[in-house]
Amino acid sequence: MIAENSVQEVIARIDTVAVVNTYVHLDERNGRYVGLCPFHTEKTPSFNVNPDKNVYYCFGCGKGGSIINFVMEMEKTTFPETIELLANRFGIPLIHEDSGKPHLHKEIEEITELYRRVTVTFQYWLRERPDGRPALNYLLQRGLSREIIEAFQIGFAPADGYWLFQFLRAKGYSEELLNQRNY
Ligand SMILES: [Zn+2]
Repeated sequence: MIAENSVQEVIARIDTVAVVNTYVHLDERNGRYVGLCPFHTEKTPSFNVNPDKNVYYCFGCGKGGSIINFVMEMEKTTFPETIELLANRFGIPLIHEDSGKPHLHKEIEEITELYRRVTVTFQYWLRERPDGRPALNYLLQRGLSREIIEAFQIGFAPADGYWLFQFLRAKGYSEELLNQRNY
């Protein structure tokens, strides 16, 4: 799938008159471009191209649309194929992406970073904070060494159920991200 930015870039950068001229000979008349319509038979030009808006319109048969639609009609290509074709012609590099995945990837990275931070915070509570002391002593009594506690990233969560939320908000995490329940 071609990235939406790439599609917009192709539409912005192609030379509309040059593209249409490939298929229809255009003459300039007072800033307008006219030619014989490729979609119906005619002797006087009623096929118009507006390069400012990248659109075409035929006053003879009523056919019209964007420059991309025009090329699709002429080449019998799909929308992505047409974008590829025009990008090749004008040397515009295209960025491809998997549908929806870049966005999801960013979210997963954000959530992973969030979990890492929470883990480190709870480990700190267990090892350094007075509130965590009873829990640490309990673990040591049970025979877990400090190395094991470290290796398994064991932590201590404060009893206050709102503490973590407020802590993370203070660290700049959005309420929206913290409210997600999909992870
Ligand atoms: Zn026509």
